[in-house]
Amino acid sequence: ITGEFKKALPVLHTLQEAGYEAYFVGGSVRDALLNKEVNDVDIATSAFPEEIKELFKKTVDVGIEHGTVMVLLDHDSYEVTTFRTESTYQDFRRPDSVTFVRSLKEDLKRRDLTINAFAMDDKGVIQDFFNGEKDLDEQVVRAVGKAEERFHEDALRMMRAVRFAAQLGFHLEANTFYAIVVNAHLLKHIAIERIRVEFEKMMTGKYLLQGMEAFIETGLFEYCPGLKGKKTDLRKFSLIPHQLTHVRQGWALLLYFLKIHDEKEASRFLRQWRLSNQTILESTHLLTLLIHRLKEDLTPYLIYTYSPELALETENLMSIIGLESHKTYVEQQIERLPILSTHDLDINGKQLMEYTDQKGGKWLGAAIKAAEKAVVERETPNQKESILNWLETHDYI
Ligand code: ATP
Ligand code: MG
Repeated sequence: ITGEFKKALPVLHTLQEAGYEAYFVGGSVRDALLNKEVNDVDIATSAFPEEIKELFKKTVDVGIEHGTVMVLLDHDSYEVTTFRTESTYQDFRRPDSVTFVRSLKEDLKRRDLTINAFAMDDKGVIQDFFNGEKDLDEQVVRAVGKAEERFHEDALRMMRAVRFAAQLGFHLEANTFYAIVVNAHLLKHIAIERIRVEFEKMMTGKYLLQGMEAFIETGLFEYCPGLKGKKTDLRKFSLIPHQLTHVRQGWALLLYFLKIHDEKEASRFLRQWRLSNQTILESTHLLTLLIHRLKEDLTPYLIYTYSPELALETENLMSIIGLESHKTYVEQQIERLPILSTHDLDINGKQLMEYTDQKGGKWLGAAIKAAEKAVVERETPNQKESILNWLETHDYI
């Protein structure tokens, strides 16, 4: 027991000393067995939520109706969840009622995949009721129990299966694969936000091709926003040879391969996926830069308006799609930018109003914008007198 697990041991021990069972569970145990970096460790226990709360000084009710209590301990926090089974599934979504139980095995049985259904005790001993270790060894994604039943209970598990294929480079076990083929349509019942979480993890997975193959061949893509009938374009997207470092790169490239190159149309597509305004903006800007870049080198003004960061990322996307990157050129252009934002301009709105003796209005915004562009394109130095002179000769003031 080392690292994050070691830090969390006091939580396990407190529960055990009070007579309860307690284990590390979920993704952290899977990642440890794969010798991958472990981030947040989840804990499962036979103690009921009220019993957990009595044992620790500081707790937060994060999902008490599902049996989850957050335990705060020396600046770290741990999600401690009561062993539970899930009953009464409605509309192929996760259940609205859970039953707390005292048996570890019952708890592990309700988990999605064999590679996610381990428990590890304080000594590092692994409980593996569903041969998850064998599946890890053979690099197989397999549903716990009868795949078809499990996907009926919660259809999101199908997306989780392909997402893990993309992250781990595993393939889907045959029964699990066919159960997805038959039940892919159930994805209709799942909230887009939950699908998106898995889809984004797939896009940024190290083994995109493997995940996308499963996503495409099972037909899951047909039930995702804007992807129906797009098998050929998705195939091209899946061949991206690099691991993407940010979801906005995934969205921009996906739009590129779907031939959605117009910024408005792209926003509409991304809104269907319920992305945040921030991600929509970044992704569509990246797409716009890429489309520009396919025609000619990025101009200083494009780099300035869309940000140096996205301009550099555009050059990365160029090499990702197998075209020549002009990264050094863009770096030079960035280096030479006279200003990085409106604030750097040697003149402001107030000064312009004083100089012209006019009230603010449409003209002012237009003048500032023109001044920015002129300075960035080095038509005038960033110096008050020259800027005013430039604005006058160009009839802005
Ligand atoms: P990650 O490393 O991406 O967090 P994870 O396996 O920890 O992967 P979580 O979504 O954090 O995934 O879920 C934690 C655990 O809860 C899973 O390992 C799995 O045992 C269980 N789980 C999560 N979602 C489901 C689901 N839809 N159905 C059944 N079990 C689930
Ligand atoms: Mg997790």
